[in-house]
Amino acid sequence: MELKKYVRTVEDYPIEGISFKDITTLLKEPTAFKDVVDQISEYCQGKGITKIVSLESRGFIVGGAVAYCVNAGFVPIRKKGKLPSLVINESYELEYGVDSIEMHVDALTEDDVVLIHDDLLATGGTALAALNLVKQMNVKKIYFSFICDLTFIQTEKKIELANYETHSVIQY
Ligand code: IMP
Repeated sequence: MELKKYVRTVEDYPIEGISFKDITTLLKEPTAFKDVVDQISEYCQGKGITKIVSLESRGFIVGGAVAYCVNAGFVPIRKKGKLPSLVINESYELEYGVDSIEMHVDALTEDDVVLIHDDLLATGGTALAALNLVKQMNVKKIYFSFICDLTFIQTEKKIELANYETHSVIQY
């Protein structure tokens, strides 16, 4: 199935000059949604993945479905102050300012094999911050998956992420 046609591009959102990839138009199509979940679940096969770690909030949608399909647990990474128990925190630079994400300290153990999933990879800043959180837990192995990869954006952060096996369903 040609999935790219289901992703809507919204010009000048959230600010002027940005071509925003809107996956809600893909998620609302039952066969497209299922195809994305199936493809990422297929990528997980044979890797012994025990936890899907996903990023608030769009990452949760497919990440949760994949966790169910591959019999893995689900671990949320959330924006600062949203998780109720003891957390580890990672701050990362945005184009304008700094953002901060958190994960519960007891979310992962050294026995876990992790898939970090998010809806979209742009500069790699968010994914790298998630990686830095997961790495602190000394898990066995880390993989990545994204619905969309904006491959035309090349950054130092993406070069660092290239050390990890990654699957993206749609590339731009
Ligand atoms: P990065 O940190 O620059 O790689 O941006 C990726 C993060 O920003 C992900 O968590 C995405 O949800 C969000 N994001 C950036 N650009 C877009 C877009 O065009 N569509 C949807 N989400 C985006």
